[in-house]
Amino acid sequence: MAASDLPPFSGDDPTCPNCGNVGAYTTHRLRGTSFKQGREHLERSCRRCNYEWAEATIDNAPALASQQSGEAS
Ligand SMILES: [Zn+2]
Repeated sequence: MAASDLPPFSGDDPTCPNCGNVGAYTTHRLRGTSFKQGREHLERSCRRCNYEWAEATIDNAPALASQQSGEAS
């Protein structure tokens, strides 16, 4: 159990865990602006059903960041 209990940012077209719709809005929430976690996160909200869930910011997901910087195998 380490750094993040939030799932990593899933990009511009995540699949809603509630209704299966592809695509969600993203809102940046600073630490302390409630939601379940009192920490900085990205609030995703489904375009179809308005279901909301939290994801980690890129800053909190160094694995994802280094993936994008082109470390090919
Ligand atoms: Zn949905």
